[in-house]
Amino acid sequence: MSRPKRFLPLSLLFAVLAFSGGILWHYASAPVGAQGGPSSSDEFEIIEHQIQAGETLAHIAQRFAVPVERLVSSNEPLLDDLEELEPGKTLRLVKNGVLHRVKSGQTLTDIAKTYGVSVAEIVDANGLHDRKYIYPEEELLIPNPSQTPAWRRFELAGGKKALFSWPLRGVLTSGFGPRRHPVTGRRDFHEGIDLEVPEGTEVYAARAGRVLFAGYRGGYGLSVVLQHDQGYRTVYAHLSEVFVYRGQFIEGGQRLALSGRTGNSTGPHLHFEIWRYGKALNPLALLPPL
Ligand SMILES: [Zn+2]
Repeated sequence: MSRPKRFLPLSLLFAVLAFSGGILWHYASAPVGAQGGPSSSDEFEIIEHQIQAGETLAHIAQRFAVPVERLVSSNEPLLDDLEELEPGKTLRLVKNGVLHRVKSGQTLTDIAKTYGVSVAEIVDANGLHDRKYIYPEEELLIPNPSQTPAWRRFELAGGKKALFSWPLRGVLTSGFGPRRHPVTGRRDFHEGIDLEVPEGTEVYAARAGRVLFAGYRGGYGLSVVLQHDQGYRTVYAHLSEVFVYRGQFIEGGQRLALSGRTGNSTGPHLHFEIWRYGKALNPLALLPPL
């Protein structure tokens, strides 16, 4: 169950206005009396809009003046294909933020990092001052996110919902399987793929999960390992900078790191692996088409 009402602090001013093609909830975050917090009127409008036949995301984004990245982010569970919307489904649009559905194990700190906002901003926007916990499936309003991973994930998966999205767009220079190692010259089994990109290119999580490892590890150099559900793991190697830490919950499409050439690397590229239950899989068989 998720209704916009969930965001309402008790003291909130609340008005429902008829709106052409949808209903407009118009409310302002309440003054935080006890702590003397913001008494300004940060306004969050949540618009419900039923998709009409022939409508595109671009139309809807323009009509309601909501950036398409935020539109996608707020409605991520509903969307399967950004090119083909399903008429009759109801989208929810927030002008000054996005909606987020809490996942099991996710903390406010995780969520704040996912969207590039502070915990305090989420607490204020949702009236969480007196709360100790957030709950799975609960919906939170994220005010003015600087990152929208759900959008990035779609973008890196060709606009469609996918098991994995690409960690970045690069030139495939080495595939999965037996090869002669480019550094040692010995016969070797390449347990992932290499994507050539300039040093410092942003690297994104290929799927939601938790950080199992972030640091230096032998030939992998600076690297990140994510643990996903269904026994999957992904590995991102030869990085130059890492933005996540062990235990952190990561959304698919969330920025993890910058690419580099640390460890055994002949040049700047991302080495990317997908494992399942201890077995390396060919990422090209699981990723969307190039
Ligand atoms: Zn490699």
